[in-house]
Amino acid sequence: MGGQGLRRRLIIFGAPGSGKGTQAELLRERYDLDHIAPGDMLRQHRAAGTELGHLASDYMAAGKLVPDELIVNMIRHRLEENGELRGFVLDGFPRTVAQARALQELLEKMDAPVDLVAVLEVPEEELVTRLSRRATEERREDDTPEIIKERLRVYREQTEPVLEYLGNLVPTVRVDGCASVEEVNRTLVQAIG
Ligand code: AMP
Repeated sequence: MGGQGLRRRLIIFGAPGSGKGTQAELLRERYDLDHIAPGDMLRQHRAAGTELGHLASDYMAAGKLVPDELIVNMIRHRLEENGELRGFVLDGFPRTVAQARALQELLEKMDAPVDLVAVLEVPEEELVTRLSRRATEERREDDTPEIIKERLRVYREQTEPVLEYLGNLVPTVRVDGCASVEEVNRTLVQAIG
């Protein structure tokens, strides 16, 4: 490894339940990337009882997006800490066009533009099945049937348009997210170079 031309500034994109977290973790291990997942960061804030945790809590429980400004500030700090040098995989950000714009601006200043967007495509029935299974396994409070529906609606309405925006700016690869974990990983590794 360590060859030239590896894409090390990545966005892994997809609906809740599409496998972003699993794939991002595999890429982190393989390429020593910073795995940046705002959902995980927010859950940590909530568990630690920080102000941000309190502010985010009701939105998360309802399956709504936390306001852009809070998220963008959180991600900015994280990227400035170490993402620039190590390379990063963004998992669950950006989720709105405003977040995508803010990210582009931020990375432009850091002279570290995103070099690949990987989209995990999974049909909605399969997402519901997976999220319901996760509800039992991980007991996430936002994996109840009603909240799952809301999160998928939010994805379609607020997050999917991000792809149109980014698609014009960054190379994008679409991956069949119904393939096995290993197969999806192989496809991503190929796309990374
Ligand atoms: P996740 O673990 O990525 O499914 O995120 C869990 C919850 O955290 C989401 O339902 C939102 O309430 C919040 N969240 C995570 N990422 C973002 C984001 N980029 N923008 C706004 N809210 C977010």
